[in-house]
Amino acid sequence: MAIKPESLIRPEILDLKAYHVPPARGMVKLDAMENPYGLPEDLQREVGAIAGEAALNRYPDPGAGALKARLREVLALPRGMEVLLGNGSDEVIQIIALACAKPGAVILSVEPTFVMFRMIATFAGTGYVGVPLREDFSLDAEATVAALEAHRPAVVFLAYPNNPTGNLFDEQAMERIIESAPGLVVVDEAYHAFAGASFLDRLARFPNLLVMRTLSKLGLAGLRLGLLAGRGEWIEQFEKLRLPYNVSTLTQAVAERVLGRGDVLADQAAAIRREREALFSTLQGIAGVTTYPSRANFILFRVNRADDVFRGLKSHGVLIKNLHGSHPMLAGCLRVTVGTPEENGLFVAALGKCLAETRAA
Ligand code: PMP
Repeated sequence: MAIKPESLIRPEILDLKAYHVPPARGMVKLDAMENPYGLPEDLQREVGAIAGEAALNRYPDPGAGALKARLREVLALPRGMEVLLGNGSDEVIQIIALACAKPGAVILSVEPTFVMFRMIATFAGTGYVGVPLREDFSLDAEATVAALEAHRPAVVFLAYPNNPTGNLFDEQAMERIIESAPGLVVVDEAYHAFAGASFLDRLARFPNLLVMRTLSKLGLAGLRLGLLAGRGEWIEQFEKLRLPYNVSTLTQAVAERVLGRGDVLADQAAAIRREREALFSTLQGIAGVTTYPSRANFILFRVNRADDVFRGLKSHGVLIKNLHGSHPMLAGCLRVTVGTPEENGLFVAALGKCLAETRAA
C-alpha cells in the first residue's frame, strides 16, 4: 500500500497553507514591495558582462568575501560586528529559528506582522506567541514585556518598520523590550531604505540584539540576498546552519557591483519615499479610505467591502495585497506598494472606480 503524506508529514505542516504568490503577468504589480525601477542601462550592461564572465562551472565563494567587504562599507557596519548572508532574509529567519529550536523553545513577535515569523517557527518546530499591537498598530510595551516574562522566548522578531502596517515602533518601547528579553531580539529592517531609522548602531550597546536587512526592497528582489549583523559569538553559531553555497556566484558578483554604485539604489529609494508621500496624501483625500502613516515603501489602508475593492482593482489590471481576513485587526485592510508615478496614478484611478462601483452595488 502506498504511503500517504498524512502518515509521514508532521501534523503542523499538514495544517499549513503554502505562502501564496498570485500570478501577476500583465498587471500593474503593486503587491510585493518591489522597487518599481530597473537598473540604469549602463549598469544593466555591466551586470550582463559580469554574468557572462562568471565561472558558473565552479561553486560560489562559500565565504562571499568580496561581497561581505562591500556590505560592511555600504552598511557602515559598526566595528567588531560580523555578518551572516542568506538566500533572502527569509532564509536568515529560518537559520535563527533552527538554531534556537530546543524542545519547548518559543519565538515571539507582535501581530499583525510579517507572516513568515510564525510560519518559520512552525517549520522549525518551536512554539509561537504573537502579542497584539494596539489598535493604532503601535507597540504595546506593557503587554509585550508581560509576554516575555510569561513565555521566556528564545527569540523575539520585531519588523522596523512593521509589515503590513508600515509604521515604525517607538524607539523607547523597542529598547525596553530588548532590555527585558531573556533571549535574542532580531530587529528586521527590511524597509530600512525608506525609514530613516535603524538599530544598527545600537548593536554594541545590547548584547542580545541582532539586526537583519535585505536587498529585496532596495531593488534587487530577484537576486535573493538577506543578511544578519551582530556579535561574532552569535553569527559564528548561525554560520554552522547556513548551507555551504546558499548565496550563488551570480548573486555575489552582481550584488557587489550594484552596491558599488550605491547612488543608484539610494536615488531610487529617495524617489520612492517622495512618491509615498504623494500617494499618501492622495489616498487621504479619497472619501471612504482610511490611510495609515508609513515609513516603508507601501501603504496600508482600510475600505468598506475590501474583498470587492481588491477584486475590482484586479479586474482593472492592478494587483495589490488583500489583508482582509488575514487577521481580525486587519479587517477591511488592503496594502499597496509604492510604484512609479504612472503606476500609482493607474492604481488611484482604478481605486476611484472600484469604490464608486462598490457603493453603487
Ligand atoms: N522581513 C519583512 C518584514 C518582510 O516584509 C519581508 C518580505 N516581504 C522579508 C523580511 C523577506 O524578504 P526577503 O526574503 O526577500 O529578503
